[in-house]
Amino acid sequence: MSASPLLKVAGLGKSFGGVKAVDGIHFELKAGELLALIGPNGAGKSTTFNMVNGQLKADAGSIQLNGQELVGRKPRDIWRRGVSRTFQIAETFASLTVAENVQMALLSQDGLLFSIWRRAADHKRDEALSLLAQVGMRAQADRPCNVLAYGDVKRVELAIAMANSPKLLLMDEPTAGMAPKERNDLMALTKQLVIERGMAVLFTEHSMDVVFAYADRMIVLARGRLIAEGKPLEIRDHPKVQEVYFGSGKTFEKEMDKKSPETAKEVA
Ligand code: ADP
Ligand code: MG
Repeated sequence: MSASPLLKVAGLGKSFGGVKAVDGIHFELKAGELLALIGPNGAGKSTTFNMVNGQLKADAGSIQLNGQELVGRKPRDIWRRGVSRTFQIAETFASLTVAENVQMALLSQDGLLFSIWRRAADHKRDEALSLLAQVGMRAQADRPCNVLAYGDVKRVELAIAMANSPKLLLMDEPTAGMAPKERNDLMALTKQLVIERGMAVLFTEHSMDVVFAYADRMIVLARGRLIAEGKPLEIRDHPKVQEVYFGSGKTFEKEMDKKSPETAKEVA
């Protein structure tokens, strides 16, 4: 395996009106690495994600995937090159089965339209079942998505995001709205997929216990600028991070204690 990074972001910037949402950030991501992007609300995390996946065009800088420039490419082109993202199963598809939702994503990879899929319900079923097995959802393949438990829906969404065999998976707040047990299950599964597939993951997360438990490395944004980078324990003890994130005198540990005593213990 080559030592050069899978993703190389340099001088990346994006403004909205007068606001520099992302202000010249640099970071790299290697294959098989789980990188957490954290920062307070409005720090520029989602804007960064949306530039990497092509939904937003950068004003400045470069985003290279295996040395190839992504800035200026369409989202679909970027997806075909192996950059995927999780997104919520749309209401309209919730009545379809688990397997059908994954089959649609697989057909989309082949450039086929939903209307064609309609008449070919068996297309890609085996492939879909294999993806579902990888996320522990094979047994529920023929249930409609709208009867699943919330944590199981998230597993299906992960399977859908795997349809293009991504080199890089982007997850913007993947565990939002989940209970601590579900969060940990989802991140453990993500970590397992990272290891099995050698895939890289860039994710944002509000729950610091999840970040500290699962991230290999972290980068911290505040007001569009990258203020720190390092391993979770280095970041936890970083005074600048603690100050920008919580205001002076507060720490990750104290914030976690306030929120959820039992999950804070897991990390301590
Ligand atoms: P985060 O995901 O870290 O909470 P965002 O990337 O969503 O932050 O937002 C960063 C900044 O850019 C915020 O000040 C936000 O108000 C602004 N912003 C984000 N998207 C838009 C948009 N489409 N139009 C105008 N301002 C935006
Ligand atoms: Mg966001």
